[in-house]
Amino acid sequence: MKEAKYYTHLDGKRLQCRLCPHNCIIKDGGRGICGVRKNSNSILYSEIYGEVTSIAMDPIEKKPLYHFYPSSSILSIGTKGCNLKCPYCQNWHISQDLTAGTTYYDPANIVHLARRKGSTGIAYTYSEPVIWLEYVLDTSILASKAGLKNVLVTNGFVNSEPLKELLNYTDAMNIDLKSFNDETYKKIQKGNLDSLLKTINTVNDSKCHLEITTLIVTGINDNINEMKEIINFISSMNKNIPWHISRYYPNYKYNKNATDIDFIFKIYDEAVKKLNYVYCGNIPPGRNGNNTLCPSCKTILIERRGYSTGIHSLKKGLCEKCGTETGIIN
Ligand code: SF4
Repeated sequence: MKEAKYYTHLDGKRLQCRLCPHNCIIKDGGRGICGVRKNSNSILYSEIYGEVTSIAMDPIEKKPLYHFYPSSSILSIGTKGCNLKCPYCQNWHISQDLTAGTTYYDPANIVHLARRKGSTGIAYTYSEPVIWLEYVLDTSILASKAGLKNVLVTNGFVNSEPLKELLNYTDAMNIDLKSFNDETYKKIQKGNLDSLLKTINTVNDSKCHLEITTLIVTGINDNINEMKEIINFISSMNKNIPWHISRYYPNYKYNKNATDIDFIFKIYDEAVKKLNYVYCGNIPPGRNGNNTLCPSCKTILIERRGYSTGIHSLKKGLCEKCGTETGIIN
């Protein structure tokens, strides 16, 4: 166990964790909502420092990140636990099952492994990376020194102070924007919308590359007006931010039908009116919605089939045909 960052002593032996907006008050012997930060004798500990449930070299497109070193591979690691409680979680066997088995990796081991495998960097993913912040920071600092990139795939439910510390070492983030309805966030995912919007705005104002993902879940957020609100929100920040709209499949405690594919494309058609880069994820091959076109001359810059990625007309972020700056880091 490693002493946690971001907590305050209260009266008696109680502590308050200040890592995420739950701001859990934890009595001696108890844990916070994420299940992996424990008050032991008035010290808050991370129980998952270095405890890795999943590790793999993945195409960076799988995170998903489409505009950050496209076609590269990245060493991806995850732990167990989560500070949100989505009933349809696609990774529930590690995010919600705290009995999931782990293997310990020292930060230096992970960096060594990433270099040995020729990885672009390290992606903290699979479950929620914010809740093992101490490990992400230690590993990211070493990775940055070794010339590797750090990527966070996160639900964005984090307080401002730790977020700003993470941003010192994070090169790219994909943030889930699960809904644009505060009631849904509170009732279904057990978070809140304001915290998410604050995180996205902070990251957008930083140097970190930003992409956003929305899983369209049958019966929860498959509402075109709500999606239009997300489109307006993203386009008001920067219409070059890639937006991934992803199809849900029944999982964990939620068994409604997979998202109607036609509805995914209805959102896509609305989104491309205001955003330059919109992508449809988790859909069967043969449908479009995954290539990157130059926003000015419409030349195909990047072609994707599954996780096979071809870069055709892109050099140092510029369209080779018309010279438009695309915002893509390659
Ligand atoms: S990180 Fe965990 S313990 Fe800390 S406030 Fe969030 S849910 Fe609670």
